[in-house]
Amino acid sequence: MTSDKKWWEKEPLRFECQADCFKCCTKPGIVYFDKASIENAAKILKISSELLKKEFLLWDDGHWVHEVANGDPCAFLVPEGCSIHNGKPIQCRSYPFWKENMTSKSMWSLVGAFCPGIGFGSHVAITTIRKFLNQFKL
Ligand code: SF4
Ligand code: SF4
Repeated sequence: MTSDKKWWEKEPLRFECQADCFKCCTKPGIVYFDKASIENAAKILKISSELLKKEFLLWDDGHWVHEVANGDPCAFLVPEGCSIHNGKPIQCRSYPFWKENMTSKSMWSLVGAFCPGIGFGSHVAITTIRKFLNQFKL
């Protein structure tokens, strides 16, 4: 009889974000901002949601996104870290536990070659990983 368990449900994964790393905040790509993230970030920065959108976000295919261009870090990154840390989007909060990163153990190893927090720290509960995968589906 075969098990329906995912590979990451069979072997505990360790992860601990490393202080002063910020590699994932400087990688070119797109950060998705849902309504709650927009409101939270605007509140933290003490600006209106409209101004946040105007200054930092683009409307792209039905989503508000922040574009991290090649060579530039995310605009919310400051020397101390993420300036909207307590309100950052689920995409950032759930990294590296993204669906695309969890497809196989070898994929996870590839992500681990980029993210130095993978393989460090305590085991991450399977329920936490499931929650991230359910929350960030893009
Ligand atoms: S790349 Fe990994 S260790 Fe570095 S900041 Fe991002 S999550 Fe943390
Ligand atoms: S919003 Fe914050 S955590 Fe997300 S990429 Fe930008 S600086 Fe990093």
